[in-house]
Amino acid sequence: MNYFSTRDKSLKFSFKDIFLRGLAPGGGLFLPSEIKRFDQEELNNLSKLNYVDLATEIIFNFCKEEINKEQLKILIDKSYSSFKNKEVVNLKKVGDINLLELYNGPTLAFKDIAMQVIGNLYDYLKIAQKKTINIVVATSGDTGSAAIAALNNRENINLFVLHPHNKISNVQRKIMTTIGSSNIFNIAIKGTFDDCQKIVKELFNDDDFRSKINMSGVNSINWARIVCQIVYYFYSFFKLKKDNICFSVPTGNFGDIYAGYIAKKMGLPINKLIVATNKNNILERVINTGEYKPHKVKPSISPSMDIQVASNFERLLFYVLGENDQKVSLLMDDLSKKGFFKLDQSTIQDIKKDFEAVKINDEDTQLIIKNINDEFNFIIDPHTATGFGAAKKIKGLENIVVIGTAHPYKFGDIVKKVTGKNLQVPSNLKMDIDKKEKFDIVENSNSQVKSYIFDKLK
Ligand SMILES: *Cc1c(COP(=O)(O)O)cnc(C)c1O
Repeated sequence: MNYFSTRDKSLKFSFKDIFLRGLAPGGGLFLPSEIKRFDQEELNNLSKLNYVDLATEIIFNFCKEEINKEQLKILIDKSYSSFKNKEVVNLKKVGDINLLELYNGPTLAFKDIAMQVIGNLYDYLKIAQKKTINIVVATSGDTGSAAIAALNNRENINLFVLHPHNKISNVQRKIMTTIGSSNIFNIAIKGTFDDCQKIVKELFNDDDFRSKINMSGVNSINWARIVCQIVYYFYSFFKLKKDNICFSVPTGNFGDIYAGYIAKKMGLPINKLIVATNKNNILERVINTGEYKPHKVKPSISPSMDIQVASNFERLLFYVLGENDQKVSLLMDDLSKKGFFKLDQSTIQDIKKDFEAVKINDEDTQLIIKNINDEFNFIIDPHTATGFGAAKKIKGLENIVVIGTAHPYKFGDIVKKVTGKNLQVPSNLKMDIDKKEKFDIVENSNSQVKSYIFDKLK
């Protein structure tokens, strides 16, 4: 098996290559040439496994050529040793809703689940052995902290984290900026997450710069992230034991929900995947109208979803356009030249076979947090709340699992405002966020970021 690009099917890359590169040459995203489909008997066998063994079976399919299965299992086991519960995730009932809590890792959001594995893969694949690598990552608040926890103090690795200045929560920022390690650099960009992501993509597409600094990336455009996230869709299906399962997924960059789509391709009997967005609803618009047109990002109370360029959507387009790389390239050209593209009716119908999409605004999100607290004495974070809201709004679907993406402590200010409650620091948080913060504010420009990085590497 090898990997090609959504914009060029003739490319052939290994898992190690795509792991290191993140973005395909020419700007496309990597996809595997084969996706394993489990039959009923195989699904039965998988259903008996614990989380680590299940993760090993699933992830192995995407990296067989480079990693031996026993080694992979050891690596995954080690990756999840810092999690609060042995089974990594936790499925619980909140009223008639099934909630999959994914925030038991060291930085309290689902990003830890993939990032802890990725941190160890850098060592296993011996990527930074001969030459220091420099990882550059854009964050809307949670990817950065998860990457810091996973890569902190690793030998021969530097990590540059770009977050949008003043546009993430205080706790999100402090988890990143109080780390005090010499290999971690926090950059507050005077712009939005989309600006940060754009800069990172531009740096990747700059061959000269990329090779000069030996650059690597861990954003959700990195296929390895998606692969690790497929596991919990299977896991919750086996726990819930109901066919026609649906997932309601708080969505920004379309990475997490795309992992659910791949799970379906692998034979998991998922009925619908529900895209829950906040007021930055480009995905809700494209799925319901066919028009993909980024607007200006509006700050919301769920900042990790304040995204208007949902990169991983390109990976869905590849499949719904009949695996046609030319068509994907044309749409992406339209997007960069005209600022939008439009899907035809049959493509929209195809997407709607697997997806529903709902926008939940800030007022409703607050009301949901309040109601869940009033009714069940249970606190959810504003991102997870959009998942609850979307699950309620869509009629006629059963067996919905809401993906709980972040611990409410990360958004303590809004939780306090809505419920009056002060939340305790969860025991699994690995950072002492009362230490002194350190970050640099940089203009929204790729040349400024480049010189910042060169300067630090001197
Ligand atoms: C990253 C994130 C999301 C969005 O996930 P995508 O994979 O970008 O769609 C939702 N909620 C929280 C808390 C996040 O950190």
